[in-house]
Amino acid sequence: MKYDNHIKVEFTSKSANESLARVIASAFVSQLDPTLEELADIRTAVSEAVTNAIIHGYDGGKGKVIMECTLQDHTVEIKIVDKGNGIEDLNLAMQPLYTSKPELERSGMGFTVMQSFMDFLEVKSELHKGTTIIMRKCIKNAD
Ligand code: ATP
Ligand code: MG
Repeated sequence: MKYDNHIKVEFTSKSANESLARVIASAFVSQLDPTLEELADIRTAVSEAVTNAIIHGYDGGKGKVIMECTLQDHTVEIKIVDKGNGIEDLNLAMQPLYTSKPELERSGMGFTVMQSFMDFLEVKSELHKGTTIIMRKCIKNAD
């Protein structure tokens, strides 16, 4: 794939690394001179995707999460990968308010948030193999 700039980070599925991923993604995107609102949207979407990898992909246990950020022209693409449980019914999982973990007081709004805060969302998942989230956002401010 053609790109102007790209990073890849691999980290342990610990909740402390959720804020780390958020900081890395937003620092990387800063070179496009985004607005504070655009940055906040990206941080929130990354946070939702990484939290899902940790609590659903690995059920809070140990595993590796990979985040790749790519810049191409005015667009940032963020890919979050886990090699965990995978999703059996993607259509159901992506419904607003659907959660498989109501006992953890999840609200089932993670995918809806990613979809509304980013310009593009693609979810690929295979049961027992893992889940890949690809999100893109166009940074309008960029020269
Ligand atoms: P919230 O994000 O509002 O706290 P939630 O995580 O349950 O609640 P979503 O983020 O929308 O809601 O995810 C919906 C459902 O999709 C989850 O409950 C889970 O069953 C499944 N899911 C999401 N991400 C993954 C993943 N990486 N691996 C396995 N299952 C996932
Ligand atoms: Mg979630």
